[in-house]
Amino acid sequence: MTIDAEPLGRPLPTIHDMNGYFWCGGRDGQLHIQRCGNCGIYFHPYQARCRECRSADVKPEAVSGRGKVLSFTVNHQPWFPHVPVPYVIALIELEEKGPVRLVSNLLGTPVEEVKAGMPVKVYFEQHGDIFVPLFTPA
Ligand SMILES: [Zn+2]
Repeated sequence: MTIDAEPLGRPLPTIHDMNGYFWCGGRDGQLHIQRCGNCGIYFHPYQARCRECRSADVKPEAVSGRGKVLSFTVNHQPWFPHVPVPYVIALIELEEKGPVRLVSNLLGTPVEEVKAGMPVKVYFEQHGDIFVPLFTPA
């Protein structure tokens, strides 16, 4: 047995049938979120049925990628050596009818300028077939 001495980068998800649209969908530059074909709401994470009307007519759709910061925290602990600190861990609410809320990183602005309610937009960090959705001020 060998121990991998390489420093850790961003942890990446295992891709399967229920999350591939989310983690790999960014290859076309758009964020994909499940939407109910019956009542029209968007929801995240994956569910086989709509959380509002219980319809099984659900499938991923591209969304605007725009939203706002609901809440956030600033991490100063270097958990992953290739991820520089400090960085913002934010709860983002997308503008689509849901509510749809995602936990992600907010980059591209000094951490002291991040505020609840600030408008943000998605961008993607590619790791092979995985496109990690991250947010930056809009
Ligand atoms: Zn529904």
